[in-house]
Amino acid sequence: MIELEQIKQLEKRTEDNPEGLAFYSAQCCWWTHRPTDLGRTMIPPQIPCCPHCGSVLYQADAEKFIQSAEDNPAHYGPHGLKAFAAAHHINGQKCKRSWTDYKVED
Ligand SMILES: [Zn+2]
Repeated sequence: MIELEQIKQLEKRTEDNPEGLAFYSAQCCWWTHRPTDLGRTMIPPQIPCCPHCGSVLYQADAEKFIQSAEDNPAHYGPHGLKAFAAAHHINGQKCKRSWTDYKVED
């Protein structure tokens, strides 16, 4: 599993994401900072969505989004920021509705 510290090292401002945005789901815990990870809704207009459950997304500055998580680790349940990191697309877990459902390595 890729830890939050490693996710923080990844470049957020890229050619396909010049504003350095994070994309996070409205209805599950899934998030990413890579536009290539986004799903598309089946029904036109095909808007970006969670690639697992099709939830619509919010977006925010990726570094601020991660910082706000670090400022409030209790929000992510007993696994804290490990659950937050596990929910990033890069870790490949199917999205969950609850932070406590993520598998993390302790
Ligand atoms: Zn989802």
